[in-house]
Amino acid sequence: MADTQFDLVVIGAGPGGYVAAIRAAQLGMRVACVEMRKTLGGTCLNVGCIPSKALLVASEKYSEAKHHLGAFGVKVSGVELDFAGLMKHKDEVVKSNVTGVDFLFKKNKVTRILGKGSIKAAGIVLVTKEDGSTEEVTAKNILIATGSDVMPLPGVTIDEKRIVSSTGALDLEKVPGHLVVIGGGVIGLELGSVWQRLGAKVTVIEYLDRILPTMDGEVSKQSQRIFGKQGIDFKLSTKVTGATVEGEGVTLTVEPAKGGAAETIQADIVLVAIGRRPYTEGLGLEAVGVELDERRRIKTDHHFRTNVAGIWAIGDVIAGQMLAHKAEEEGVVAAEVMAGQSGHINYDAIPGVVYTWPEVATVGKTEEQLKAEGVAYKAGKFPFTANGRARSMNATEGFVKILADAKTDKVLGAHIIGASAGEMIEELCLAVEFGASSEDIYRTSHAHPTLTEAIKEAAMAVAGRPIHM
Ligand code: FAD
Repeated sequence: MADTQFDLVVIGAGPGGYVAAIRAAQLGMRVACVEMRKTLGGTCLNVGCIPSKALLVASEKYSEAKHHLGAFGVKVSGVELDFAGLMKHKDEVVKSNVTGVDFLFKKNKVTRILGKGSIKAAGIVLVTKEDGSTEEVTAKNILIATGSDVMPLPGVTIDEKRIVSSTGALDLEKVPGHLVVIGGGVIGLELGSVWQRLGAKVTVIEYLDRILPTMDGEVSKQSQRIFGKQGIDFKLSTKVTGATVEGEGVTLTVEPAKGGAAETIQADIVLVAIGRRPYTEGLGLEAVGVELDERRRIKTDHHFRTNVAGIWAIGDVIAGQMLAHKAEEEGVVAAEVMAGQSGHINYDAIPGVVYTWPEVATVGKTEEQLKAEGVAYKAGKFPFTANGRARSMNATEGFVKILADAKTDKVLGAHIIGASAGEMIEELCLAVEFGASSEDIYRTSHAHPTLTEAIKEAAMAVAGRPIHM
């Protein structure tokens, strides 16, 4: 295929696709990226990570000014929510991020093609434009990075007005009186926190008997307790069986997950946040013979090759955690392998963060996983109540927990609930990536007074020798 227009055509400009396109261009490939959205950056920059964090930060500041500054001796009065200003902040943050990707494409000479891509055959992508016209683009390699879409819930039809997905929940017209969130996972808790801080009564309904079901059990229990204290109501082991929009409200029908008497709940807005599913519609995968798994995710090998030569896939559209930085790592490896280099991802070293207050962050194995795998481990835990910096910040809720191999002391997992947990977890990701022991962590000097001293103390607690506890 010496006369193809490009060496690589990427379909989808989310964090997986745009990062792969840039990395491939850096490696000397001629690269195009087909994206059907008018702006680049995918779910993450447009309707995911970035706008949700903009609202989380803004609502946190509002809540701090309204309820928490007094405890620091800072008197504020007349604190008011400027709803339009809050939404403007979010929109501007999104705009500056998506235009940043435009700039990076230009800088790296990635050709941007606006339209919906489908694969006609290995080496040929058919792009359908908004006006219905089509264009064929040829390339040695095609990388599918089409991401994911909202998972629907039978009986609960999303209209993005009264019954919203995360996309609608980022763009409500006003603070709802009662917001019911279906799903106690990361997205539900983050967006539930935003609206709760802004004044809504928030109820989270979760099918399982715990929130944050993939996190370490102790962390999920503690976070439920803290969010409960903040005012969020939880209805666990409960399933939603239907929703009816009536005038300005929604009536939800719920029943115990194991079956039993049904009851109804009135809401002003219902957020469906039960997960996301891979976006493979209209890509022509069946016709070209690209294999999917039982959950319609594209199957790949560890270098992100599908079963069809020259077609690759990364990010939310393949198996694994649906996280922007996981998609980015995969994009880099795919591009480097295409360029003849080698690549490897240590999935145990990929962090997961919930950007609530306090934050929840995790890397590697949970206690439940280690028990299930029969791995002998030692746990070291340190609470923020005993950390000087946390006390000075009035942020003493939560703890750091480190799990290390009982024989070798190698760090196998780490879990934090506390202020800045999302920043602090990086030290522990590095520990997992480098195969560090808990002793390596506590022999490393940590600045005083910092929250990271709680990490050092938790590492010392693994060896049964914390100083400040
Ligand atoms: P996407 O970002 O979904 O991008 C795929 C792109 O492909 C889209 O722009 C889509 O328009 C385009 N596309 C699809 N099909 C076609 C086609 N046929 N032709 C052309 N274009 C196509 N992750 C985190 O790590 N941290 C967070 O804080 C975080 N917060 C989130 C908050 C919310 C509310 C949501 C919804 C998600 C959040 N995520 C977060 C998850 C994160 O957004 C995804 O994991 C990430 O965007 C996946 O990247 P991707 O490149 O695989 O796909």
